[in-house]
Amino acid sequence: MEKPHIAVLPSPGFTHLVPILEFSKRLLRLLPEFHITCFIPSIGAPPSSSKDYLQTLPPTITSIFLPHITLDQNPHPSLLAFQIEHSVNLSLPYVRQELESLCSRAKVVALVVDVFANGALDFAKELNLSSYIYLPQSAMLLSLYLYSSKVDEILSSKSRDPQEPIMLPGCVPIFSTDLPAPFQNLSSVAYKGFLERSKRFHVPDGIFMNTFLELESGAIRALHEQFKGKPGIYPVGPITQMGSIDHENGVECLRWLDKQEPKSVLYISFGSGGTLSRDQLNELAFGLELSGQKFLWVVRAPSSTVSSAYLVTESKDPLQFLPHGFLERTKEQGLVVPSWAPQIQVLGHSATGGFLSHCGWNSVLESVVQGVPVIAWPLFAEQSLNAAMLTNDLKVAVRPKINHSGLAEREEIAKVVRGLMEEKEGKEIRKRMELLKIAAANAIKEDGSSTKTLSDMAESFRGF
Ligand code: UDP
Repeated sequence: MEKPHIAVLPSPGFTHLVPILEFSKRLLRLLPEFHITCFIPSIGAPPSSSKDYLQTLPPTITSIFLPHITLDQNPHPSLLAFQIEHSVNLSLPYVRQELESLCSRAKVVALVVDVFANGALDFAKELNLSSYIYLPQSAMLLSLYLYSSKVDEILSSKSRDPQEPIMLPGCVPIFSTDLPAPFQNLSSVAYKGFLERSKRFHVPDGIFMNTFLELESGAIRALHEQFKGKPGIYPVGPITQMGSIDHENGVECLRWLDKQEPKSVLYISFGSGGTLSRDQLNELAFGLELSGQKFLWVVRAPSSTVSSAYLVTESKDPLQFLPHGFLERTKEQGLVVPSWAPQIQVLGHSATGGFLSHCGWNSVLESVVQGVPVIAWPLFAEQSLNAAMLTNDLKVAVRPKINHSGLAEREEIAKVVRGLMEEKEGKEIRKRMELLKIAAANAIKEDGSSTKTLSDMAESFRGF
């Protein structure tokens, strides 16, 4: 028999692969006698970013690519969550085959699946494995999933005042506009999908989340009290990746930052695939110019769909969409790079003093870990929820006002950029972010809250 195993199932896409494998690496540090086998589903051929990343894994993690599927079988091509979930569902027969084969040759104690790969949880029951969801996000999002039937009742009530915020136990009040995109239309397929997915959160033995007690103490304590271990709720973060400058823009970004004053640069990025409309891209360009602040901007070609670059590689040169003369006028003020920057290294650089972010959860945690205050600019998924937490609860972010056409105008952008980078408000925000940075580091120290949670889990895996 081989070493005892834990099976791991991410869902397709670089940003769903890395978090669960970074979690796996951390788990293995506490369970050196174990081996992890990761089954990798993908839409089309796996992206090179994923393949490169897999090369960096230790020998105690084996990755097995499942036959990839094609998207033309997808009933809802415009819905990202559906694309991902649907592609995992199409891969389930392969998952089952691989899992059965693994169980026949090794002692498999647990199956850990990404939130969109929840379809595989049933196999764990059949094969007598303990089962877990890895939610690479916040306790606030988990609360929304676990309380979604109650929230649905409230939102569906005819007598409800739409201005009244939703109160999730232990969380900051959430205005309807800050609920994740599916909640913006209660009769949409996306909303029904969210409710369906929510039910699956009651299936596994436990849920790991990439957050930590000191960041979301209210939400985490309320979840523990309410669910009393069924399912078990385990905050194990912050788990962030090491990052790499091994990319054509990497060295250029860091060299440019080396020449800037400490904490003087605003870094701007909308994650691995967030995109702005043409009008918004224009306003942002003029707003940055108007602010007079130094900036490092990762630019993507504009699109009318906010997540359009998420699963496909860009083919157009994004810089051609910038306003006429912008690059020339701002050549002393900023650096613009197409599509990608080494974010971890950029946020860790002493010249970086602010982050205009779409508030994807990885970006949020990376900012917290490096103590960089945020301008919150959510685009899709649960990013508005994260923005509300950063702005209204933790008070480590500011948020530009959006006009009646849904645009943040250039004057508003310039105002919030200056506010964060130069003014008193920004200094207060920076101080609070510094404290969170210390709390994040403490959570993953040997005696930290997240390490303790994970050690207890490791001990229980040994006992299975
Ligand atoms: N990222 C990066 N360079 C970029 C854009 C993104 O390294 O130019 C990384 C970033 O560090 C983070 C991830 O990609 O780890 C984005 O994850 P997040 O959850 O913030 O957003 P998503 O891509 O899922 O929308």
